[in-house]
Amino acid sequence: ATPMSVAVATGVGAQRGVLVKQGETLERLSSVNHFVFDKTGTLTTGQLNVHVVEPCADLTQSELLRLAASVEQHSEHTIATAICDAAISAGLKLLPITKFTTTPGRGVTAYIDGKHILVGTRQWLNSQSIYFPETLNNTILQNEKQGISCVSVAVDGELQGIIGLTDSLRADALSTIQLLQAAGAKITVLSGDRLEVVNAVTQSFSNIQRFAEVLPQDKSAVVKSLQAQGDIVAMIGDGVNDAPALIQADVGMALASGTDVSVESADVVLSHQELAKVAEAKLLATTTLRIIR
Ligand code: ADP
Ligand code: MG
Repeated sequence: ATPMSVAVATGVGAQRGVLVKQGETLERLSSVNHFVFDKTGTLTTGQLNVHVVEPCADLTQSELLRLAASVEQHSEHTIATAICDAAISAGLKLLPITKFTTTPGRGVTAYIDGKHILVGTRQWLNSQSIYFPETLNNTILQNEKQGISCVSVAVDGELQGIIGLTDSLRADALSTIQLLQAAGAKITVLSGDRLEVVNAVTQSFSNIQRFAEVLPQDKSAVVKSLQAQGDIVAMIGDGVNDAPALIQADVGMALASGTDVSVESADVVLSHQELAKVAEAKLLATTTLRIIR
């Protein structure tokens, strides 16, 4: 690659909101044949809304929401923000908590009035011997099939209900995927959420691969396995969770709206929260390298 044309392309990119940190990145991006997208906050806006509050024991809806929000007040997850916003909008006062813990990809815990509260995935609660009645399992599945992510709430080992959250695809998600596919690229969606939710949210996409319930620490292993198949991989993410996968990928791309960690770990930073910049960046790289070769 001649330094001059790469420098020009890098400048053009910057003007258009595609910030390429190093010249070599463009060269690598031109040979990328597989784009891996994180779901929450990348393909979707990441602005979740509480859609369902369903108690299954002795709590009212407000009590269930208040308990969950009280525990979530110390979490920075998008789920936590949505649950706290819903509680505050409903005029609920959050309760003081002690011994808060957070387990990435699973959930959060704390004590309220000496009671142990868990908020997280059903599998995580199951692994702690919390029993789910069949009717609630069905409710969860029905919600998930409509693209509603569910978190479960337990008090002292007893299930108290679920909270369902919705998120919407970014307006340019489908067209970006289609542009990349038209250019011959493979597409994978990678999520910590359940497969039912991933399927529902991405139902308008065809010919894509989906990996669900991937724990944060396993996201980079998925990227590695695609590289082991011979693919040159670009990973597009936004969260703290995505940083190792962004580093593992041949090209890591972060949305500028994303957390500082992912922006630091990325080779390309896309501004204006526009997913369409991914396709623009790829086109810029391909065109530049075609001129050079
Ligand atoms: P994603 O890749 O979808 O952003 P994560 O890997 O962060 O998701 O989390 C996976 C799942 O773990 C979430 O869908 C949720 O069920 C659960 N989870 C993670 N953090 C929290 C939290 N703070 N409160 C409740 N549930 C959580
Ligand atoms: Mg994310």
